[in-house]
Amino acid sequence: MDILTNADLHCHSVVSDGTLTPEALAQRAKANGVELWALTDHDELGGQARAIAAARAVGLPYLTGAEISVTFLDITVHIVGLGMDPDHPELVEGLRATRGGREQRAREMADDLARVGIKGAFEGALRYVGNPDLISRSHFARHLVDTGVCKDIPEVFRKYLTEGKPGFVPHRWARLGDAVRWIVGAGGVAIIAHPGRYAFTPTQEYALFTEFKGHGGQGVEVVTGAHNASDVVKYTGFCTEFDLAASRGSDFHSPDESHTDLGQLPDLPGHLTPVWSLLSSRVH
Ligand code: AMP
Ligand code: MN
Ligand code: MN
Ligand code: MN
Repeated sequence: MDILTNADLHCHSVVSDGTLTPEALAQRAKANGVELWALTDHDELGGQARAIAAARAVGLPYLTGAEISVTFLDITVHIVGLGMDPDHPELVEGLRATRGGREQRAREMADDLARVGIKGAFEGALRYVGNPDLISRSHFARHLVDTGVCKDIPEVFRKYLTEGKPGFVPHRWARLGDAVRWIVGAGGVAIIAHPGRYAFTPTQEYALFTEFKGHGGQGVEVVTGAHNASDVVKYTGFCTEFDLAASRGSDFHSPDESHTDLGQLPDLPGHLTPVWSLLSSRVH
């Protein structure tokens, strides 16, 4: 397990805000040379049984996964869990509660977009939703592109749906300690997702890593679709400083939208401990 290099442990299906089914993702991962795969839908384990079966059907080693939305110091942070029992009651209930506010939030997002003349966005976004429990900003973004409001998804997130822009609704997600405990309690490993994407000050970021460790977190994504070379250097240093294992994942959502395809990532720096060395007993 330690010597495999092409692990891709972060992506999304139609069960959250990706556009491919778990089956299509398994086939694409295999075709792209992925050697260990995890489907990590947002706040949702509903795709895990399909992903396990699809990975087995194409001969691809698989770890269960989810990406949990957390609010830490008023900023949204994503915690990836790998290797959990997807039927563990506290994890299942915690994710159900975390998903719970999404429909109301989406209605408020649509109301805010209507204020600037964009009508019908709730119904529009719903047409892209594969799982009615999991309406997300990505579904609104697809609607705004397909109706010509914006030319592409990055333009949507520059002009709408983000702090200070029309369609942004602040939301309180799970607490950091709860998310880590749900993952660890279900037999998994908790990982800070794409740390280079958060707008923390250095002091706040230090607090995130310190508290995450204190709650039992064990890993950080070092190589992800969202990181540039200097992010990789920075979070390689954090692995040493905080004694964390390193993860690697594309965060692939869609062939039409994601610039990093499944398995198309740089290798982890060689001296780091890969998270999968902690998870060999959890591989399907
Ligand atoms: P939500 O969980 O509803 O807040 O939606 C968050 C999702 O929106 C993320 O998981 C991404 O898929 C997408 N997203 C957020 N910011 C951006 C961005 N700047 N560009 C593209 N997608 C984004
Ligand atoms: Mn997403
Ligand atoms: Mn994320
Ligand atoms: Mn993700």
